[in-house]
Amino acid sequence: MASFIQKVLTATRGTTQRTFSLSAIQSAAHPNGFNFGLNDTQREFQAVARKFAREEIVPVAAQFDKTGEYPYELIKKAWSLGLTNGHIPENIGGLGQSVFNICLTGEEIAFGCTGIFTAIDSNNLSQLPLVIAGNKEQQKKYLGRMVEEPLISAYAVTEPGGGSDVAGAKTRAEKKGDEWILNGQKMWITNGGVANWYFVLARTNPDPNCPAGKAFTGFIVERDFPGVTPGRKELNMGQRASDTRGVTFEDVRVPKENVLLGEGAGFKIAMGTFDKSRPSVACGAVGLAQRCLEEATKYSQERKTFGVPIAQHQAIAFILAEMAVGVESSRLMWMKAAWEVDNGMRNSYSASIAKLLASDVANRNASEAVQVFGGAGFNSEYPVEKLMRDAKIFQIYEGTSQIQKIVISRHVLSSWK
Ligand SMILES: Cc1cc2nc3c(=O)[nH]c(=O)nc-3n(C[C@H](O)[C@H](O)[C@H](O)COP(=O)(O)OP(=O)(O)OC[C@H]3O[C@@H](n4cnc5c(N)ncnc54)[C@H](O)[C@@H]3O)c2cc1C
Repeated sequence: MASFIQKVLTATRGTTQRTFSLSAIQSAAHPNGFNFGLNDTQREFQAVARKFAREEIVPVAAQFDKTGEYPYELIKKAWSLGLTNGHIPENIGGLGQSVFNICLTGEEIAFGCTGIFTAIDSNNLSQLPLVIAGNKEQQKKYLGRMVEEPLISAYAVTEPGGGSDVAGAKTRAEKKGDEWILNGQKMWITNGGVANWYFVLARTNPDPNCPAGKAFTGFIVERDFPGVTPGRKELNMGQRASDTRGVTFEDVRVPKENVLLGEGAGFKIAMGTFDKSRPSVACGAVGLAQRCLEEATKYSQERKTFGVPIAQHQAIAFILAEMAVGVESSRLMWMKAAWEVDNGMRNSYSASIAKLLASDVANRNASEAVQVFGGAGFNSEYPVEKLMRDAKIFQIYEGTSQIQKIVISRHVLSSWK
């Protein structure tokens, strides 16, 4: 092994550090394919996101939670640091980052505040259909403007009648000449009130017997198109910095140029997006779980009962141990799901496991952190009650935990055959 590393070092002498980092050399030297090391660029990105989250998000997160104000200044700062729009391809001026790298920084931002993380991550979610299925003109027009300015976009699929059963969506679009006329209502749309444009899924084949894979079309709909009306900001249990609204579409004229891929391709685009977005939701849940662990560890060494810091009671120390197990295992799972999709492998199974596991860990760690804080944990002057409220949504959005179990169990059963 040593001689192999020596050979690579000799071969790379004189090249730049960034092109041939030590970790890349180490990874080349791992014949079994396992490598838990980050390369220099990843470490740099992670450090930038960590500094931003801890120095700029943590101090103001409670205030945004109280007021429900949209954290636009922080999003602008994140944009200027290259922590948003990671999926946008380099030929459009974006960073063209891997899902893995996006998750690496996403976890750090979520440590700071998952409401702010969700606002940023929903930009990524809504851009993915255009990255996956947009043509050059669509990418240039709609992704290009996100690179030029710190704009917001939104992914509008869920409806008042249901979110889990996407194929039951009632929003419809009818073709009239060179336009589509869009009518319907979307619900619980993150960034609904601040988006510059929306990815919208609408039924374009009215035949109830038409399979979902052909019945829906994906559209890019601008906020300024006449007939687009965002509703009031919803008052949610947690993640209150994030903007969640219904959006109504009334006789909205959408040019045919704004159809993604083609008529009938929308369902597959909307679902295909999740393979790249669910690892990202999982990384957000891990960020929150890590925050719970750190807050509980710190408090357990400051708070004394029976003459000693509570960390010295084994019951409390074991809670910290279990929280750490949750963080480490769910982190590895988002990493695997992200790594698979970055390497061109089908990852729906591992993405669902990552999201299910990480959202459960986040909820358990938040509840345990409140327990470690005792009465103070139940009080809004301390940080952990917000974490408990913020955690719940991870088990609901981008497919509930039950939906993840459907995906996972289908995979298990079909592999068995
Ligand atoms: C804060 C927030 C932000 C959101 N952001 C967005 C967004 O940006 N874009 C967007 O499109 N949507 C968004 N959503 C919507 C979210 O994805 C849905 O709420 C979610 O998919 C669940 O849909 P639902 O609320 O209609 O619940 P339902 O589908 O009505 O489900 C209700 C319950 O039944 C269970 N259930 C349903 N079907 C089954 C089944 N077949 N088997 C077992 N159990 C089942 C569910 O797991 C759940 O527990 C957001 C929601 C919230 C609250």
